[in-house]
Order: sequence, then structure tokens, then C-alpha cells
Amino acid sequence: MSNEQLDSLRDELDKVNLAILEKINERARLVKEIGDIKREQGINRFDPVRERSMLDHIAKHNEGPFETATLQHLFKQIFKASLELQEEDNSKALLVSRKKQPENTTVDVKGEKIGDGQQRFVFGPCAVESYEQVLAVAKEMKKRGQRLLRGGAFKPRTSPYDFQGLGLEGLKILKRVADELDMAVISEIVTPADVEVATEYVDVIQIGARNMQNFELLKAAGSVKTPVLLKRGLSATIEEFIHAAEYIVSKGNSQLMLCERGIRTYEKATRNTLDISAVPILKQETHLPVMVDVTHSTGRRDLLLPAAKAALAIGADAVMAEVHPDPAVALSDSAQQMNFEQFNQFLDGLIESGLYKAPIKQA
Ligand code: PEP
Ligand code: MN
Repeated sequence: MSNEQLDSLRDELDKVNLAILEKINERARLVKEIGDIKREQGINRFDPVRERSMLDHIAKHNEGPFETATLQHLFKQIFKASLELQEEDNSKALLVSRKKQPENTTVDVKGEKIGDGQQRFVFGPCAVESYEQVLAVAKEMKKRGQRLLRGGAFKPRTSPYDFQGLGLEGLKILKRVADELDMAVISEIVTPADVEVATEYVDVIQIGARNMQNFELLKAAGSVKTPVLLKRGLSATIEEFIHAAEYIVSKGNSQLMLCERGIRTYEKATRNTLDISAVPILKQETHLPVMVDVTHSTGRRDLLLPAAKAALAIGADAVMAEVHPDPAVALSDSAQQMNFEQFNQFLDGLIESGLYKAPIKQA
């Protein structure tokens, strides 16, 4: 075979490649149109009966030289790519998904832009007990440059006989301290009726684990402009967590942060099992900032620092931990809150680890 012959055959091959390319894309356009119709009709996109009939059709018309099995294999690949093309349509993607919004959401809490790549901390007592108690914690935080003050005013407690929190009075205390020290307030709201009034006192509305699927509360928090911190439910899957987040964003409030706080497993060594892998999964699947609550996940003071290191190392945007002037007499969570000395050691430990990238004020 002469070189000219080879060149001309190669030219022909190039033309055939282009013809196949054109046909494959023509097929893709048809598939997309079919996908649109199926979506409108609410029909499942994958249709094995239809695939079988197309493969049979191909077999019937195959005149070689390719074996029918080879051709069916090639066409199966085309079918698969086409199905993916139909699924790529992101009109149905969740608002909180990366698919819908590739860039990170940052949540502005009094100038602290959570999710901007700089890690942050949220500290404060489990429950607001008095003005003096909150002020003492806030002053200690302020010394270390920490501005995100969290405290429970409405406490969802397992037992109705346990301290239920100071309610609105607690929110007023938090706001008073935050105003005095230029800090931001994060506090849990447990009922839709309190959301509106809470916006006057808090900079972030926390929705606790027990309320992650309180859909009326999610909708109410989604209807205001105040940022929201949504905690993962006690036994919620990541998928359920993401859908709970969608309730809030779909109502118009996109200033939302997620918080991994441990889930219930059979393990009894810790209060909950910190699902650390949920952090990168949530960061991949959604564009929302992700926080890790080391206090309620571990329930153990000795695990706060290692858990916080893990959270920072795996990419959490913020870490939350509880601090109390005298944990032994705290009205809730006395076993895992840090006293001031432990709080300072906690921050020092993180500085030493090199995992915390922004400067923390030295004690
Ligand atoms: C809290 O953060 O105060 C709290 C009660 O935690 P959780 O809702 O995660 O149990
Ligand atoms: Mn607590």
C-alpha cells in the first residue's frame, strides 16, 4: 500500500470520526429533549425496557464486521453517558447544593465572615444562668480575640424537670453583654413563634439537634434575614440534614451554617459519635459553611482538643465548644464544659498544633 493510499484512508477515517461525532451529539440533543419531557411527566429517566429494545434493534441491523456483543457494549456506554446528560440538568438540584452554586457561601456575623477560609471559634456557656456568668465568659473570650458568643436561653432538655433556660430574659442578657463587649450572639430558638422576636436579640439563630426536622421552625427561620446555625439531628443522615437545610434556604434565607454535633450510635464511650467525615462530605455536597461542635459530640472534656484538631484538619470552617466560669456548678452539661484555664489551654493547644491558621491572641 502506497503512502498516498494510507493518507487518503486516514482522511476518510477523520471524516467518519466527525460524522460519528456529529451523530453522537445529535443523539445527545434528542436525549435531552426526551429528558425534559420525562421530567415534566415525572417519569423515571432510566428505562431498562427501552434500553433493551434499542439494543435488540441494533443487533437486528448489525451487518458487521463488529460482533453484535461489541456493538452493544459500545452503545451501552453511549446510553450511560446520555443518562448522565439528562441527570446533569441542575434545575432540580437543591439550592444548598454545590451543583446549584459552586462557590462557597459566607455567612456574615457582625463582620465575621464564616466560610471565607479563615477558621473561627464559637464559645460560651451551655445555658445562660446570669448576667455575671455570661459577662465573665465573654471577657475571657475577648482576651483571646474571640467574638462569637453562644449561650442557651431556651434549653431543649431530655427531662422536663431539668433547667429549661431563662427564655427571653436569657436572650436579653446575651445581647447586653454582646453590646458591651462588641461581640455577636448565637442562641437556640425552639419554637416558630419566637423566631421573629429572637431576631431583635441574636445575630445567629441556632436550631438544635432535636429540632432539625421541626419543619415549621425551619420555615420560620428561613423567613427572616438573621443568619441560622442548623445542627445535625441526633440520628439524622447527611441526606436528611441537607434537606433540612434546604427548608431554610428555600424560604429565602441563604445565610445558613451547618453544624456536625455527633450522632447516636451503639458506642457509649462518648456522648455521641462525632461523624468527622460528615464535614468534608457536607463541604463537597453543599456550599454552606460547616462547624463542628466538639462539646456535645464528645461529651468529654478530655476529647475537646483532639476533636477540635480533627475538625480543623478535615476542613471545618468553625469549631464550637462550651465554656463556663465554674462547670462543676453549671445548670447543664457540667461534665464537658471548660473552665477558663481549660479554655486557654484549648486555644494554646490549637496554636501549638499549627492547625489553626489565623492568629489567636496569646494568653
Ligand atoms: C446546644 O448546642 O446547646 C445543644 C443543646 O446541642 P444539640 O442541639 O446539638 O444537642
Ligand atoms: Mn450544652
